[in-house]
Amino acid sequence: MASVDTTTAQRANGQDQAHPPQIPVVNPATGAVIAHVPDLPAARVAELAVRGRAAQPGWQALGFDGRNRVMRRMQKWIMDNADRVVATIVSETGKTYEDAYVVEINYTGGALDFWCKNAESFLAEEQIHASTLAVKGKKMVVRYEPLGLIGVIGPWNYPLTNSFGDCIPAMLAGNSVILKPSEVTPLTSLLLAEGFAECGLPEGVFQVATGRGATGSALVDEVDMIMFTGSTATGKKVMARAAETLTPVALELGGKDPMIVLADADLERAANLAVFYSMLNSGQTCISVERVYVEEPVYDEFVAKVVEKVGALRQGESTGPATAEVGSMTFPRQLEIVEEHVRDALAKGARALTGGQRVAGDGLFFEPTVLVDVDHRMKAMTEETFGPTLPIMKVADAEEAVTLANDSPYGLGAAVFSGDRARGEQIARRLQAGAVCVNDALLNYVAVELPMGGWKASGLGTRHGAGGIRKFTKQQSLFISRLHLKRDPYGFPYRTGTSKALFKGMRLIYGRGRRR
Ligand code: NAD
Repeated sequence: MASVDTTTAQRANGQDQAHPPQIPVVNPATGAVIAHVPDLPAARVAELAVRGRAAQPGWQALGFDGRNRVMRRMQKWIMDNADRVVATIVSETGKTYEDAYVVEINYTGGALDFWCKNAESFLAEEQIHASTLAVKGKKMVVRYEPLGLIGVIGPWNYPLTNSFGDCIPAMLAGNSVILKPSEVTPLTSLLLAEGFAECGLPEGVFQVATGRGATGSALVDEVDMIMFTGSTATGKKVMARAAETLTPVALELGGKDPMIVLADADLERAANLAVFYSMLNSGQTCISVERVYVEEPVYDEFVAKVVEKVGALRQGESTGPATAEVGSMTFPRQLEIVEEHVRDALAKGARALTGGQRVAGDGLFFEPTVLVDVDHRMKAMTEETFGPTLPIMKVADAEEAVTLANDSPYGLGAAVFSGDRARGEQIARRLQAGAVCVNDALLNYVAVELPMGGWKASGLGTRHGAGGIRKFTKQQSLFISRLHLKRDPYGFPYRTGTSKALFKGMRLIYGRGRRR
């Protein structure tokens, strides 16, 4: 049973119990229903928006110091309540304790620390040096204002990192936030609302709108900006809806991240990371290793290492630390997609060296699966699988690996393994992805100082780094005249002498140098 008291959480969130229909929340490792949450209709989302807008000016007026104080308290609250937060995450996702603790809690602690330290400097006013002759003597300033009310829509794979993670910079920038968690995993967000209430966050600054797609869609209509994390298909719908009100969107979408293993790579490390980052969170990570290309001379050795390591993994319900490496999947439909991709690959000539099927029983388990003899006719190599599968393809050389890695509509992340770091970096620069690791994988996500975002169908905009908080603001440029005449030389009425002098001056200043 989830250790969240949804009644208290909903009260903390200002929701009244009475009306909306309820959505059951299921523990995917056992199949048991563990809670119910309201499926909020559009009218209720509009009410939350009114409350959020009313609370925002007071929150902004607290300034960075005042906002930091509350967010620092929340950081402490999360650490003090880590066991409870982890138990909630595990109960609604089926992931292991390690995947909840080390990934979700660790990321959130680090992100709160980073944004509290850096929000003010990232949003500090910037004095711009006047380099254009026409504006010499003018004062120019760039400043940032909170947008107002931000809608954050999240997926089910990391209910803390990928939903709440974006609320942190949005709130520190001075915005109110309405978080719409996935209907599959709403309990973690409700628990956080309870935490914020205990930390003294003014009512209405952080609210949770539980519900399905229609609730998310209604949220798009109500807010000043949408931060969306989820599938590419839904991201397109969100962007189309937001276009109707010209509401800005940031989209963090799906991926099909490739890993390239060159012949000179440290194969032990490459195999360890391929296994870990394909099976972590049962493969349900946007930047999971989804496909591997290995140079022919080391292919057999690499595959043997991977098969041995995958064979040693323990799969099952995580009941505490180190009780399983691979937990359950979270969402029934995703399990069907994994089954379909593996079936499709096997039908087209692939072989499963480990696993290959769903585990019988009530839980949503799919066996850790290594596929070989794969190619780009197969969905497992071209579509997002989002499950505990690792398809490995033999390539003649690095050129073929780069071509195949780039043969994808997605461009979220990628990884290259080579004993020659400089060569690895050269290859990394040729990969069409928003973030590429060399002799590493995925860890870039916890580098909150390093921007991350998808190319191609993997997204629009970035999170993390200075841009990861500035996107939650309106940028204003100030242009202030200090040294000036009563009448500028370029102004009415035009006079022949002044005009000719201006034309000549222009050619003199910008026309120097040779044409060839
Ligand atoms: P999803 O697109 O099905 O749902 C995401 C959220 O959108 C949910 O809260 C859902 O209720 C809501 N939603 C559904 N229809 C909507 C609509 N019409 N308008 C507004 N909101 C709507 O995604 P999912 O299955 O929950 O998550 C898995 C996907 O998320 C994968 O594709 C994964 O790669 C991606 N993801 C990306 C990142 C990243 O950083 N790029 C991180 C995590 C997950």
